[in-house]
Amino acid sequence: MVPPTRTVDVVVVGAGPAGSAAATTLARAGTDVLVVDKATFPREKICGDGLTTAALRELDELGLDPRTVPSWVDIDDVVVRSPSGREVTFPLPRDGGRYGAVARRRELDAALADLARRAGAEVLEGRALRSASDGADAIELEVEGLGVVRAATAIGADGMWSALRRSLGLADPSYRGEWHAFRQYLTDVSPRAARELVVWFEPDLLPGYAWSFPVAGGVANVGYGILRGRSYKVADMGAVWRELLARPHIRAFLGPDARPEGPHRAWPIPARIDRAVLSAGHALFVGDAAAATDPMTGEGIGQALATGRWAAEAVLAHAGDPAAVAVSYEQEVRRGLVTDHLLAERLSAVLAHPLGARGAVWAAGLSDWTRRNFARWLFEDYPRALLLTPRRWHGGMFTGPGAYR
Ligand SMILES: Cc1cc2nc3c(=O)[nH]c(=O)nc-3n(C[C@H](O)[C@H](O)[C@H](O)COP(=O)(O)OP(=O)(O)OC[C@H]3O[C@@H](n4cnc5c(N)ncnc54)[C@H](O)[C@@H]3O)c2cc1C
Repeated sequence: MVPPTRTVDVVVVGAGPAGSAAATTLARAGTDVLVVDKATFPREKICGDGLTTAALRELDELGLDPRTVPSWVDIDDVVVRSPSGREVTFPLPRDGGRYGAVARRRELDAALADLARRAGAEVLEGRALRSASDGADAIELEVEGLGVVRAATAIGADGMWSALRRSLGLADPSYRGEWHAFRQYLTDVSPRAARELVVWFEPDLLPGYAWSFPVAGGVANVGYGILRGRSYKVADMGAVWRELLARPHIRAFLGPDARPEGPHRAWPIPARIDRAVLSAGHALFVGDAAAATDPMTGEGIGQALATGRWAAEAVLAHAGDPAAVAVSYEQEVRRGLVTDHLLAERLSAVLAHPLGARGAVWAAGLSDWTRRNFARWLFEDYPRALLLTPRRWHGGMFTGPGAYR
């Protein structure tokens, strides 16, 4: 490679939630960190825009102010429609902070990139990673419009199709993600759709589901996801989408005046953190680049923020020792996500059958207590497999406060 034009401690590829969390954590500790993203912010990210309690706690810790995200809507209840057509409302706690929210990714991610900048990271937009080569002492990245950047650590936060992973020869060319999901913003939705967060377990989509999540201004983020290899083929998803929007209960919920704001879009969702390569030499992978989304719901913002933070903390704890950085980061991912991932995968198999999904909604809706606790569990107020991992038990683990108290 040609001589480096820049030398930094850490280069982060991608300024989504994973990259911004890593960069903010590192910059605050005084690390010289450069973030490069191929997009110019604000940029779209195809997403349901739903923020779980776990994601909100990470955002709160990072210091993100919800007032900087104009479309932000707090969520009080989760409405689930069973495959039998029965609707159950699951209430999130009303006091002690925020437990659920929806915020357009276009705005949320721009605010997160700004946060990283304010923490002291240099964030360069419109700069795509072109290639990378790992050496004995450092890693070198060729970045569009910048030349060669040399760093002690590179953090791949560049999403599902991670260019860093591909450049280092670590990508499986046949991999397309576990889920595939569609989303579209609809404007002028009904008062219910402007306010309520709904999940529809349609029998033909299981274990996938359709959703309507409210964002500010009478707009809803509406979409659906399927598990690859189950229900429909990805190629048929456009036709299924049109047919879904015409289903009477969905049409009635969205209201007669609902109309599309821009085109619908689809994107894969990677959910195999238990099998993903998390590190190699001087590189670490976080967020979707580490396939960190929840295999039952496809939620990945909280996981992206957490893995970004853990990668940064591993770098801070073991600077100068790439092997120790990798061990420390991988341990944290195993501790924090892998058991939850395995449990969620099993539950997803139960939800794949209409009877399983009906039974789950029925059991979760049995009493006020089950309804309250199901909502908290679904929204990742505590880890999915907390009951199975005694090492994570602590006083108040089921009654912890929300974010932004
Ligand atoms: C339809 C859909 C609905 C979803 N709904 C939800 C939801 O409601 N809640 C939830 O929690 N999760 C949801 N997810 C998952 C969530 O969107 C992801 O898990 C999350 O965005 C991962 O964040 P990230 O920072 O890892 O990656 P990303 O947000 O994908 O960010 C990656 C960044 O890397 C940049 N990049 C890519 N290539 C390069 C390159 N070569 N050089 C430089 N930069 C590059 C991109 O421009 C981008 O800014 C959904 C996903 C889909 C597809």
